[in-house]
Amino acid sequence: MSIRVHNTMTRTKEEFVPREAGKVAMYVCGPTVYNHIHIGNARTFLTFDVIRRYFIWRGFDVTFVQNITDVDDKIIKRAAEEGIAPADVADTYTFAFRAAMESLGIERPTAQPLATQTIPQMIDMIERLIAGGHAYAVDGDVYFSVRSFPAYGKLSGRDIDDLESGARVEVDDRKQDPLDFALWKTAKPGEPHWPSPWGEGRPGWHIECSVMSEGELGLPFDIHGGASDLIFPHHENELAQSEAATGTQFVRYWLHGGLLQVNAEKMSKSLGNFMLLKDVLAVYAVPVVRLFMLQTHYRSPLEFSTDRLDEARTAFERIENLVRNLEWAKSAKAMSSGAPSASRELLASARDAAREKFVAEMDDDFNTAGALGAIFEFARAANTFLADNQSDVGVADIELLVHAKELIIELLAVLGVVVTGAVDIEFPPDVVGIANQLAGYAGTDPEEAVRALLAARAAARAERNWTAADAVRDGLAMVGLVVEDTAQGARVTYRAVN
Ligand SMILES: [Zn+2]
Repeated sequence: MSIRVHNTMTRTKEEFVPREAGKVAMYVCGPTVYNHIHIGNARTFLTFDVIRRYFIWRGFDVTFVQNITDVDDKIIKRAAEEGIAPADVADTYTFAFRAAMESLGIERPTAQPLATQTIPQMIDMIERLIAGGHAYAVDGDVYFSVRSFPAYGKLSGRDIDDLESGARVEVDDRKQDPLDFALWKTAKPGEPHWPSPWGEGRPGWHIECSVMSEGELGLPFDIHGGASDLIFPHHENELAQSEAATGTQFVRYWLHGGLLQVNAEKMSKSLGNFMLLKDVLAVYAVPVVRLFMLQTHYRSPLEFSTDRLDEARTAFERIENLVRNLEWAKSAKAMSSGAPSASRELLASARDAAREKFVAEMDDDFNTAGALGAIFEFARAANTFLADNQSDVGVADIELLVHAKELIIELLAVLGVVVTGAVDIEFPPDVVGIANQLAGYAGTDPEEAVRALLAARAAARAERNWTAADAVRDGLAMVGLVVEDTAQGARVTYRAVN
């Protein structure tokens, strides 16, 4: 089975064939650090975090590069508004961005270069573009000559002549063509600047991604990702610069994520309709926010909705409860002969089907919605098993229950959804001696010892020997354990500590 990805360049799903077997080289455009990220930005980064995690789970060695744009018009504007240095704005929000990514459980990039630390390499590429007739300098600015790259528009499917007659093209007399874009800008007074062959200035935005991606990954690299609003002009321009400068293919597969919307409008800072990630995470737990986002395919638009977030919270609570119930059921019924084999076979085949469906859905252009569907379907089967066999779950079922629990935890972890209720209880070693005294247990395993104590307690209760039953309870309490009687039988937990 192979992974299929939707390639924006060909507008089709293609089999993913890495340039080097078993390895994935991917680049995802990072933030311009002038403000906290909103959850629309977070969705894009979550998408590529999950894609990266899935490749790793499927055995690939993934190199994941993401830039930080720490010099830009927006940063300079913000600094002027606040009366501080642009570098201070950039530092503050670089730190905030990294913290935000960590708060959403997004893995750190393999490399995260800063624009301001890559200036010499950018100057070098601009010089090569000028030498090759793809760029020209005017009064300290350098522009890319769009007409020098005949394939311009191939990624976004735009025609140069249509673009030219478009109303959004800015008019600048110094450009040879209105579509030409800046590679290097003369610094105005008070702006950050670096020396260059064209005078003191700073790089344009697009050039940094061309330089950093090639520098970290080499060309062509496997996957270039970003939100769909970056296709034009940013990615079109990156592609033109890189292929014009090197004569080599830039990227093998272009992946673009759909936008987060509010009332069917793109969430953006300029529209003022945004919610910051940190504000959403103050109300909803990380697994809930991830589930909410991953229940929609990454290429589709996603409408922000607190109702859908609430639904995701309920769904996640059900999963957590199920995992706890599977854990408890497994340690509770030493006396039972176990569930009927038909019931057990049903759960085992549901487990195999769930894993297969999860892989098939994720292989199909990372269909996380379908993959979650497979997990929820299996969760229903496991709940049914527990409900049907409430009093019959026995030692013979333990392996099946452990596998069921582990599968749910494993598959959700591929999506970065961590089930916190799933931590195995490690029993204190002292419980062995207590089990030896009260239940005649002769082994050395604390978990077995607890099971023996619970069995002894159940036997005592069946005989209405309350003194013996209470002795077990008190014995467990001596090592900090509490017995609870539940619908699935007795279970042992640690005493809650505040
Ligand atoms: Zn970029």
